[in-house]
Amino acid sequence: MVATIWRRAAPHLSRASLSRAACSILTNRSHNFSTTTQTPSPSPATNAAAAAKMEAIGVLMMCPMNSYLEQELDKRFKLFRYWTQPKQREFLAQQAESIRAIVGNATYGADADIIDSLPKLEIVSSFSVGLDRIDLLQCKEKGIRVTNTPDVLTEDVADLAIGLMLAVLRRICECDKYVRSGAWKLGDFKLTTKFSGKRVGIIGLGRIGLAIAERAEAFDCPINYYSRSKKANTNYTYYGSVVELASNSDILVVACALTPETTHIVNREVMDALGPKGVLINVGRGPHVDEAELVSALVEGRLGGAGLDVFEKEPEVPEQLFGLENVVLLPHVGSGTVETRKVMADLVLGNLEAHFSSKPLLTPVV
Ligand code: NAP
Repeated sequence: MVATIWRRAAPHLSRASLSRAACSILTNRSHNFSTTTQTPSPSPATNAAAAAKMEAIGVLMMCPMNSYLEQELDKRFKLFRYWTQPKQREFLAQQAESIRAIVGNATYGADADIIDSLPKLEIVSSFSVGLDRIDLLQCKEKGIRVTNTPDVLTEDVADLAIGLMLAVLRRICECDKYVRSGAWKLGDFKLTTKFSGKRVGIIGLGRIGLAIAERAEAFDCPINYYSRSKKANTNYTYYGSVVELASNSDILVVACALTPETTHIVNREVMDALGPKGVLINVGRGPHVDEAELVSALVEGRLGGAGLDVFEKEPEVPEQLFGLENVVLLPHVGSGTVETRKVMADLVLGNLEAHFSSKPLLTPVV
């Protein structure tokens, strides 16, 4: 997987060089983008000088996101922890000349304000695949590089989407409560809804959308999708509008990127098209769904159920949802496994090191 990413970033490298480079990232050793297998390794003195140079580079971490990443950033760079600064405006003004990189995530990225405050900013390396928290236009205009963590989290998010479908239809969370509360001793749990064979509609057939489709196929689910264009390389059924997709699906999954065009892409009309037996799964971003409309649709029984990993104003979740048993609520944990977060952290570190060593970025966006 990592070798695939590196191949995209550095197509000139041989398979052997790529796999060594990928291993070095995963094992957290310094890496070498040599184009031949014969290039001698840098001497210990050269390595020490390069490390000392890196240590002087100011990196601003926006919020706590991963302790391994934080430790490694601290070891390799001059790390500033933004969330610990009581006076953030003053802090930015004081460090304006030394901060050359930002590390953000799905919650805190780099908006126009912060980019403007940091004249020496060269790179934004996001600990996420989603780029909705980064002002990409501003980065492009100012020549600031942007990287993210694609591919490495796809499996986890797709696994979780399937887990949500099963949890909502088979009422897995309710069943668990039923056993723990002792209610089982008073009678059997009610019947639930079958998942296998249900029509799954996916908004956004990108990396994650496709991985969800492949998993759902194993449950004999017919796959429908909507994205801006029909994909030539699949036999899945394409619908040219989200309402049409919802009308022809039992489960609607949001897996597209968050942009101004996809904000509230799931609105009242879409929910009504999905209907009282339909289930909405959101593993994209909260603002994809009109949350007020979602609450009404669920409370009024116009929508059959929902499995939500993301919300409009995280960590705030509408309290009306807490009492609904046809809803499963998760605290934005799509990529939240030990294994995946470690590889994501290594990608962030690898991108920063590549940038500051004038080597090709591993996962460039801008
Ligand atoms: P990706 O491969 O870039 O796929 C993004 C998809 O969005 C593409 O299929 C694209 O399709 C579609 N899209 C973009 N604009 C659209 C529009 N206006 N209308 C309809 N579809 C549109 O990205 P990915 O790796 O699959 O990740 C997808 C998203 O998942 C991320 O952006 C992130 O927000 C979310 N995510 C969530 C979690 C979590 O923890 N829950 C974790 C990781 C990622 P076309 O280009 O064909 O239109």
